[in-house]
Amino acid sequence: MLFQRRRILSGHSHNLTVQVAKKMDVRIILLLLVNFAVISFGRKSYEGWQVYRTAPLTKLALEGLHKHVFSDPKFQVWSQPILNKPAEIVVCPKSRAKLLNILKKLNLSPKPFILNIEKFLEKERKEIENIKKQEIYGLINYVTFERYMDFTEITDYLNEVAANYPSIASLETIGSSFEGRPQNLLKLSSGSGSKKKIGVFINAAIHAAEWIGPAVALNAIHQLTANLANNQAFLDMANWYILPVANPDGYVYSWDHDRLWRKTRRPNKGSKCVGADPNRSFDVHWSEGRETNPCVAFYQGPNVFSEVESKNIADYLIPNGLDGNLHLYMVLHTYGQVLLHPYGYTTDPPININDLALFGSEAASALKAVRGTKYEVSNITNAFYHPYGNSEDFAYDQAEIPFTYTWELPGGAENSHDVPLSEIKPVVEETWEAFKSLVQSVYIARKNL
Ligand SMILES: [Zn+2]
Repeated sequence: MLFQRRRILSGHSHNLTVQVAKKMDVRIILLLLVNFAVISFGRKSYEGWQVYRTAPLTKLALEGLHKHVFSDPKFQVWSQPILNKPAEIVVCPKSRAKLLNILKKLNLSPKPFILNIEKFLEKERKEIENIKKQEIYGLINYVTFERYMDFTEITDYLNEVAANYPSIASLETIGSSFEGRPQNLLKLSSGSGSKKKIGVFINAAIHAAEWIGPAVALNAIHQLTANLANNQAFLDMANWYILPVANPDGYVYSWDHDRLWRKTRRPNKGSKCVGADPNRSFDVHWSEGRETNPCVAFYQGPNVFSEVESKNIADYLIPNGLDGNLHLYMVLHTYGQVLLHPYGYTTDPPININDLALFGSEAASALKAVRGTKYEVSNITNAFYHPYGNSEDFAYDQAEIPFTYTWELPGGAENSHDVPLSEIKPVVEETWEAFKSLVQSVYIARKNL
């Protein structure tokens, strides 16, 4: 069986040159189609739109923001609002006066943070195009951290990794998105190593616009394949399950039509607004959610698991978690530089709170040691406003994965929504150090059970 599997895979790699050539044809056609789509259906312009930054949020202000600002589709989130940190809110010129009024009433002393969003987005697009022009596309095992990668490029890379490292890598699809794109999961496993190996699941881009997440996930793959010589221990300790684009429709839409798109792309009955927040769709205290307007960023959807992308993730996590294959689950978001553990739906501490907090702090220290980037470690509910139905709580409670973390990676600053291109590499490198620390901690904890 194993031999057969190997034979099929090595046959695959013999044909790789042909496949790459074919793939490039398909790619050119796809590119033409995408360009056509952009020209035909347009890209949302944020010309004249601004971002306002508030004072650091108190608990009351955080609540007020959700009730009066984020419940109103006129306003958008630039980043997830986090307790004790300033909030950044996107507004079009027409609604600016209304926003300022609300923020002043909430005592949040708003200040203009970005004067014209389109300028930043255009700069990012141009920089990506310029870097692309200098690249020789079509190299096998192609991944870059010089710029963000689109869905087709990421899919190609995952296929190439599976073909080039057949003894450790395999690619599967955990399901299809609403529009029929695959939710690709790359598994990395050496087969050898300790019997007490742990399972690590990484979920990125569940929120489409959060582009640094896939880069961090792809770097984990890169480290465990092309740079395996320096990371063998982490393949011996763990089997890795990496989902670089959890919300493929949203991700594609954020590239082609609306850079700030966060949700899925399922139409909502009786509403012109599309999609729901896939990280509010999970079956964990979902009915307690308060985000019922289809037009807002945090919309929880019409029913639990209305978002097929979330259902597919759940259907993968439940059996694997309960069978003891998964021990560490991480979801990558932007931005805020916080590392959060359960719960989101209650202030009650989870049973292994001490280990969750300790391992989180150790990971944050390992990350900080690289170049001084600081993360705060806390539970989700201390940082966010009622994130009912989130995948982290679901993975912990329902799939019984004992260590689950939410990463709010760096972003924002004076630059853009995600980190500028020059920061991708440093961010993925420092985060990898934290991943190693977490894997080691969870591995040792499990070994001592
Ligand atoms: Zn997010």
